[in-house]
Amino acid sequence: MMLINKEDVKIGRGGGKGSRGKRDKRKEVLTKKSKYEKEGLIKRLGLEGKKRIEIKKTIRIPVHYDVTKNKMDQLVRVTERLTYGIRLIGELVSDVYADTFANVKNSKILPDDNDIDSILKLSVIEDIVKNSNIIEKTGLNSNFIQQCINKVIWMFRQHRESHKEWEGKVERVENRLDSCRNDKELEKADKWLGKLRKREPSKPFDKSECDHKIPCRLDWRTGSVEKSKEKGKFPLWIHISTLELGKTIDIPLNPSIYHLNQLKDAVVDDFEIIKGGDSRKKKNKGKYNKQQNAVYIHVSITKIVEEKEINSVGGVDQGLNKSIAAVLIPLDHRLDNNGIYPREEQLTDSAKVELLEKYDDIVSSLQEARKLEKAASLQKAEKWEKAAKAAKKAAKVAKKLRSLRNKRENVSTYHDWCLAKKVTEFTKGSYLAIGNSKFRQTQFRGNGIPTLRKRIGKWTYGRQRKIIKLKRSEMGYRTELRDEYGTSRECCECQSKLVRRVWNDGFSYLLCHSCGMKKDADLSAGNIIATRCRDDMLKAGMIRMQNPVSQ
Ligand SMILES: [Zn+2]
Repeated sequence: MMLINKEDVKIGRGGGKGSRGKRDKRKEVLTKKSKYEKEGLIKRLGLEGKKRIEIKKTIRIPVHYDVTKNKMDQLVRVTERLTYGIRLIGELVSDVYADTFANVKNSKILPDDNDIDSILKLSVIEDIVKNSNIIEKTGLNSNFIQQCINKVIWMFRQHRESHKEWEGKVERVENRLDSCRNDKELEKADKWLGKLRKREPSKPFDKSECDHKIPCRLDWRTGSVEKSKEKGKFPLWIHISTLELGKTIDIPLNPSIYHLNQLKDAVVDDFEIIKGGDSRKKKNKGKYNKQQNAVYIHVSITKIVEEKEINSVGGVDQGLNKSIAAVLIPLDHRLDNNGIYPREEQLTDSAKVELLEKYDDIVSSLQEARKLEKAASLQKAEKWEKAAKAAKKAAKVAKKLRSLRNKRENVSTYHDWCLAKKVTEFTKGSYLAIGNSKFRQTQFRGNGIPTLRKRIGKWTYGRQRKIIKLKRSEMGYRTELRDEYGTSRECCECQSKLVRRVWNDGFSYLLCHSCGMKKDADLSAGNIIATRCRDDMLKAGMIRMQNPVSQ
């Protein structure tokens, strides 16, 4: 039996004769169809034969508020059907390979990724899907089905990755349990292990999971982003297949100037349709009524920039007080450029740090209040009126906490952007290595700085690194993450390990017993990261020592 008919397969950018009907000549298709389009972009930018950096990023464009209800309904129906398809396929894969997934989970030996890789293949899953009733059940054409399968594969891969990370964490805590020196440490590690066990990443498509929408990546086979060639109300559109065979719709978008600029010198890979998103906007009833159900198109683009020449190597250490220590050293350590190196800078944004700390204080005092009210409502259980009152109060506090957390999150993101901008500015002209810190783990054991630990938990090292890397690559400079193991326990002047980290209120410095150096611990770490990075680059032949002595 043929489940996929030929007509189906034709849906694509067929041109005039295909099932998608006539192309609109007034629109330029931005979504790429093949790798040649990237080469075209390179040519257009004049970057052939030059060193290049490829940047992948996502921009989030709202659907235009003036879109007709009819079109919107069709779009929503497509996304709903895709979610249904993804869920059916996911559950099917999960069932068929339950054994393989279970084995991986239970074996103590590092699981064989080949097993999983051989399953998570488009062709393999496609065969399973063809032998099921999913295609008839969903009525999706074969292109949509393939895209659903790709999403399922991606979800299983993501789960695999986060599960591995989690396994590593559990293993480390278990090792710590073995090496505990006293009961207090044992109790702490045990408590942490319990918490960690509860945080095991759940398998995708667990049937207990609530049925929220799962976005699906749509590429040129089922939809494209298109730009109007004429000036008009709607500069940007998406063109997308519908559930009806051969029928397509065009949805206008509402891009900002920033969005249009981003699209100018970029190739569009694919896009996702995502409903809602901004929970804060839902509150403004009436005025933003249409925004309550706002739909956003997340467009993934590839940009290409020329890689610039470097004159130094930088090291960045993310400090404890929401600050960043950056150190630049010359490519050749004998070339000191009249003593301007090493250039050191401690970057921070004190106004925002203060604001963040203020929010943190309010949040923790509210948490305390909620705890008290909750306890009160339990204690007064015999007098239900009082108990209900206390419970009501607790709920009120919880609501306030939520809104405060949102506000804090906004300040925090903004802070990260500002800092990243400063780092990018300071490290212009250099190759940069960022210490891949794992503070949450290393700071676990009692080290006498509990208040510090509390703050670290809330800080966003990962996000900051990501933003710095993106900003720098847009300027044409590469950034790498590097394991910073031991960088804070080494003297940057004499490489001695005989150092002591001295903690003071909010900051710490490194004291070297060999040479007597006394330096900010973060700057020292930044210096070591940069030095190690430069040594590796020399070894790899990425940079070459000039010979200033013989000339
Ligand atoms: Zn020293």
